[in-house]
Amino acid sequence: MEVLQKDLQKSFRRQEEKVPFFKKVIALVLPAVIVAGLFYPVVGLFAFVCMTGAVILSFYKGRYWCYKFCPRGAFLDEFISKFSFQRSVPQVLKSGFSKVFWLFFFIFMMGLNVLRSGGQLNRFGKGIVLLLWITTLLAITGGILFKPRTWCIVCPMGTISGLVGKNKKPLKIDVNRCVECRLCSRNCPMEIEVCSFKEERVESVNCIRCETCVNVCPKDAIANS
Ligand code: SF4
Ligand code: SF4
Repeated sequence: MEVLQKDLQKSFRRQEEKVPFFKKVIALVLPAVIVAGLFYPVVGLFAFVCMTGAVILSFYKGRYWCYKFCPRGAFLDEFISKFSFQRSVPQVLKSGFSKVFWLFFFIFMMGLNVLRSGGQLNRFGKGIVLLLWITTLLAITGGILFKPRTWCIVCPMGTISGLVGKNKKPLKIDVNRCVECRLCSRNCPMEIEVCSFKEERVESVNCIRCETCVNVCPKDAIANS
């Protein structure tokens, strides 16, 4: 295994160049919605724009929405990352059981909300705002204790989008170029063992298509489909 110093410098330089500055604006949408939702509960229905966008885009490019357009993801990247201890996400949270648990929690809470709202939009919105507050507080806690995107590993909409689109335009890895330095895996915000995909396609339910691995790879071994 050999990575030259100039390769490392190149990869870190490219990583710094690619910070998407428009995400700061998207990151502000989450606090705006959950605070406005306390006064105007129908604002909470904005969550359905995100859910719909995430699922529709997943048919084309997996969880690209999670990285590019999700207000919660942007909030975690832009703000919570500054306070994060950046510790590894516990295995129990990354397990399939955890994903299933949070998916059923989400379905249960939605069903309960529909029943309790009695068909009134305002009451339904209140329930959505409450759910947004609960999940945002959990996301902030997870993001501070572990990696900023910890919540995204268990996010029910992320799981659905990932299942729908994990094989839609996945990243490709050239195993002949790879020197197994693991820079890709160490920098992946979703803690994916990128270089372990020996079939040349990085097909993971968790991949949000952020391309961090593409940018840090000093051997240009990872590329878009
Ligand atoms: S694919 Fe990952 S492990 Fe392989 S050379 Fe690139 S950064 Fe290193
Ligand atoms: S770093 Fe690579 S493998 Fe990890 S989420 Fe981003 S695009 Fe996917």
